[in-house]
Amino acid sequence: MAAERPGRRSCDCKIGRDIDRYQLDQLNEQLIRNRQDNELSLRDLATFVNHRVLEAAIEGASGDVLEDESDLFGALDQKDAIAAIYGALRDEDVPPDRRARVRTRLTQAGVDLDTVEDHWVTHTTMRRHLQECLDLDTSSEQTLEPDNAKSTIEWIRTRCTAIVVRTFERLQSADHLNITDLDVSVSIRATCTECGKTYSPSKLISRGHCDCYQDPD
Ligand SMILES: [Zn+2]
Ligand SMILES: [Zn+2]
Repeated sequence: MAAERPGRRSCDCKIGRDIDRYQLDQLNEQLIRNRQDNELSLRDLATFVNHRVLEAAIEGASGDVLEDESDLFGALDQKDAIAAIYGALRDEDVPPDRRARVRTRLTQAGVDLDTVEDHWVTHTTMRRHLQECLDLDTSSEQTLEPDNAKSTIEWIRTRCTAIVVRTFERLQSADHLNITDLDVSVSIRATCTECGKTYSPSKLISRGHCDCYQDPD
């Protein structure tokens, strides 16, 4: 397979050039994993690359934008801060003054934004890179196995719990919340609107149907 040493083999396409330019050594492995295990769409994968490009450009610049912006956006970690900055630059519903402020901050910190934006990729570039450079089949979406579905949902639940815990911690350290010992749990429930029965995701996935479901034949 073409991706024997995916991290070290930069191809000739725009993504390969980004890998070299920003020294994104793990990028191809991450793309393969995000595609195969986490089933990210081409669009999400392109965003993933653009985040990494933006992150590398910011890290390579002189200012400490990340720290400032983390506070500003209330982001929990560097990944969230990057996503927030990227959103501020890209999302259509961002107020123009906020976008302008973020652009100014980045520029003042020494980030060459026009160049960075030139290096961002689209889902079309992503499709070509996966197909032609990494030999991944993108013709059809892979079928989702029940076990993968369970672990995706569990991963999200764990991450969600962690975010809630961190948010409470931030409130506590800002003195907006006082509690000695806090235990946070997040549970995800799925309800059949036909009969009203509620399941945990893993139970529903294991059963493969609701109790009320009648096989057509
Ligand atoms: Zn490529
Ligand atoms: Zn039902």
